[in-house]
Parts: sequence; C-alpha cells; structure tokens
Amino acid sequence: MTGRPVLVCLIDGLRPDAIHRAQTPVVRRLIQQGRFTLKAKTVLPSLSLPCISSLFYGVPPATHGTSTNWFVQGWDEPSLIDLFHMEECSTASFYNWEQLRDLSHPGSLNVSLCLNYAESYDLPIGEGDRLLVQAALALVRQPPDFCFVYLGCLDTAGHRHGWMSAEYLSALENADRCLGMLVDIFPPDGLLAVLSDHGGLNYGHGGDSAEELTIPIIFRSEAIRPGEIPSQASILDVAPTIAAFAGLPIPKAWIGEKLF
Ligand SMILES: [Zn+2]
Repeated sequence: MTGRPVLVCLIDGLRPDAIHRAQTPVVRRLIQQGRFTLKAKTVLPSLSLPCISSLFYGVPPATHGTSTNWFVQGWDEPSLIDLFHMEECSTASFYNWEQLRDLSHPGSLNVSLCLNYAESYDLPIGEGDRLLVQAALALVRQPPDFCFVYLGCLDTAGHRHGWMSAEYLSALENADRCLGMLVDIFPPDGLLAVLSDHGGLNYGHGGDSAEELTIPIIFRSEAIRPGEIPSQASILDVAPTIAAFAGLPIPKAWIGEKLF
C-alpha cells in the first residue's frame, strides 16, 4: 500500500481543443489546479487498444506487439497495474469497452468490472459512461491504491457523428459530469490523472495527423506543483510518472520520462 491512491481516468478520443468548445467545468478545473499539457502526443497507430496498451505497458506498439484493436500476447514485462500489484497494492479497473481486458497479467486486479456499453446501440450515447461510473462508485467504498476508469462513449460519438460535432461535444459534456462524480470523492493528496488515448478527425483516427495524435494529459494532486508541462510529453511518460509518484520501481523496459 502506497498511502496515496492513484486514479487514472481515460476519456477515449478526447481532443484537447474540444475541452474549451464544450461545457467541461470539471476538466477545466483540473487543468487550473493541476500539472497539465494539451499538446502531448500519443503513439502510432493512433488506435485505442495499441495506444492504451502503450499507456499501461510503457512501450510503443512496435514493442508490445498490439497494433490493432485485437490484443496480441507476446510482451511479458509488467504493466502499470502489475507494478502496483507486485508491491501488494490494491488495484481496480472499470471499463466499458471489453477489448481492454488485457492491460495487466492475470490475477493483478482485485476488482475488474466491464460493462461493455461504450458502443451499445441500445443506450443513448453517454449512458454507458454514466452507468459504469455509477457501478464503480457503488462497488468501491475506499479508493484502491490504483484505479483505472475508462470512459468510451465519446469515441463512439466521434465515429458515429464526427469529431467536434454537436453530438461529440454533448458526449464530452456527459463524460465531464461522470468525471466529476469521481473527482468529488477522490482524496486531494492522491494523484488523479485524466487523459485520452488519441484524438480524431472527421469520423475516425489511426493516422498521423495532429488532430489524431495530440492528446491532453492532466495530473492533479495537492502534492504536486500546478502549471503547464513544458516538455513535449508522450503517452509513454504517464506510467513512469505515476510509478514515481507512488514510490514504485520503474521497470527498465519503459521508455518514457517522468513528467514531474
Ligand atoms: Zn480510443
């Protein structure tokens, strides 16, 4: 147990320039209070599972081997979740896109809940995020040492209606409210990380345009100094930054740099 919990909330497909186009009071407050960049880069290909695998495994897709939304077994180094588990910390993952079941080795999660609703046609877009956060809050009384919450509905709105469309911005406002429910109960001395896996352009992502590659990364904790992260940050820098905050040993395989 590290004593200061970590919560990573990933809003799939969030473009940084959408944050000030929509009503996003929670994300904007975290930016004001936190250490942030709206100019970070994700990895190629800018697809969800390759990028989120890189977030957790600390290496690019060419190294961990997952270059599509189909998980490829073959990279045995520990992920961020495994790292917490190996140090006997409590871990949890809440996600609404089932492809995210392989972000850690078997047995590393104390709590793992998937409500595979992100792409559901039976629910209004955004409802899958709300139901997931509601379930997470009902299950977890005390914040685990490490918790991952994945909100997938914004990406679905982008694919169906276009990035930056009215529907996309509305899904972002919903995700912001969902994030607010988590922020409300999260202790201020813990580390809250909010980011996306990639952006999007027209009706998709996967390419190397700035709109697809540029992501926000926001850290908030009363234990860290607020302000803009000056360097060119990468999604690969997130895992080492979190491990360092938690006082965990950074695996040699990880290639990112600590951001504070
Ligand atoms: Zn994605």
